[in-house]
Amino acid sequence: MILIVDDKRENILSLKKILEINDFKVDTALSGEEALKKVLKNNYFLIILDVQMPGMDGFEVAEAISGTSKTRDIPIIFLSAVNTEKRFITKGYASGAIDYVTKPFDPDILILKVRTFYTLNQQTQALNKIQQSLREEINIRTKTQLELKEKNNELQSILETIPQIAFTAKPDGTIEFVNAHWYEYAVSANDFPMVKSEEESIAGKWKKAIANGENLELELCISKRGSEVYRWHLLRAIPVKENENIVKWVGTFTDIEEQKRALYKKDEFISMASHELKTPLTSIKAYIHLLNAAIQNEQKSDEMKLFVERTQKQVDKLYNLITDLLDISRIESGKLKFNKKWFNFKTLLQNTVETINQTYPAYTIHVAGDGDVEVFGDDSRLEQVLINYLSNAIKYSPDCKDVYVTTTASDGRLQVAVKDYGIGIPQESQKKLFDKFYRAEDTSNRFQGLGIGLYICSEIISRHNGTFNVESDAGKGSTFYFTIPIGNKNNN
Ligand code: ADP
Repeated sequence: MILIVDDKRENILSLKKILEINDFKVDTALSGEEALKKVLKNNYFLIILDVQMPGMDGFEVAEAISGTSKTRDIPIIFLSAVNTEKRFITKGYASGAIDYVTKPFDPDILILKVRTFYTLNQQTQALNKIQQSLREEINIRTKTQLELKEKNNELQSILETIPQIAFTAKPDGTIEFVNAHWYEYAVSANDFPMVKSEEESIAGKWKKAIANGENLELELCISKRGSEVYRWHLLRAIPVKENENIVKWVGTFTDIEEQKRALYKKDEFISMASHELKTPLTSIKAYIHLLNAAIQNEQKSDEMKLFVERTQKQVDKLYNLITDLLDISRIESGKLKFNKKWFNFKTLLQNTVETINQTYPAYTIHVAGDGDVEVFGDDSRLEQVLINYLSNAIKYSPDCKDVYVTTTASDGRLQVAVKDYGIGIPQESQKKLFDKFYRAEDTSNRFQGLGIGLYICSEIISRHNGTFNVESDAGKGSTFYFTIPIGNKNNN
């Protein structure tokens, strides 16, 4: 819209008509004051301003208009019949006019000028829009960049706190960030940690993953700088995508040595357990075969009795093995049950020694000490401990057939010691004997076993608030101890 400001109605009318004929919308003001009010309220792309007016003259109006930010950029054309002198024209321009037209004016020229201003206004508006949207885009980009930086910082802080070796890389695979753990293993931020074998080299597989944009998962052995100890690690690197495009890679090396060992131990255990279970089964099969043959040949019942006894022995062995395996899983799930009551320890010991004597008639168990005390506990579980200690003493003493059991009661506790003169245990193995699946290295090939008996004993003793330990000299023999609290049945 165009605003015509003139104190003479007839001037306004003629000018308005010319402009409206040319499709311009027109608004009018009869004084400078009215014009100022209107420019603040409405949007005009051009003001045609009469210089000569009572009250505020055109110059003052122009100055006021160019003084406020809303109206500053509206172009003003001065119309003047009187002030055609150069100094007035100059003043007009100085007070903010864009053009100065003297009356009488040529309507065609005026329309041309108005059109030019209109086009200029349109272009300015278009430019302003472009400028605005550019500004918005710049703002969005700056914000995104800031957010990205913040996200990156956050990610890097997280990677610094985790126990793994961690890194991030650019989409092309160039490493851009490594955490402190990285330097424990690698010489620089650009080099991956050294791997044990050449075939495991990370670089080649890393390049392939980058080229294919696929997750990388590698198990490899790496060592700390300056150390010869290699440990299994899992390298896992994944691409981080934004709008389907890879923007970075995040990777970690996780120490999986313990899992690897556990897995190896589990496999080893399964193979040992299968072997242990198969041996008595093979004997049972053979004795049943012999029994069958004996029945068919109507052989003497003495021989048949012997086969049945031997079968029975192997069945007991199998039963004990399976009971031990079940106990292990009960311990793991916290379901090992105890049925505690008062019992006399001496009686328990005598019965146990009798059972062992029957099973191993070639051995002599010497019992000494004051085991005649009352114990509050699970007698069958404590018998299990005694049987384990005694049968180990026998198993690991192939050349000496004497085993000594000594009981000592003092300070409210009973100590039981089982001593043998067998193969003994090297110092370095002694600490681990009560660990699950542990077997001293040099015995594992010569003697059958699963390495779970002492572990179960340790659990049973601990559940009776007891203690256990071993003293041994390799090649000379061992003494296995346990202590449990005792009481007087009448006092408790
Ligand atoms: P297993 O005898 O089935 O291997 P245990 O848990 O009973 O399992 O014993 C763990 C290990 O302790 C044995 O493998 C053996 O190396 C050692 N050990 C236990 N008792 C004796 C002993 N009396 N003399 C020598 N070594 C023993």
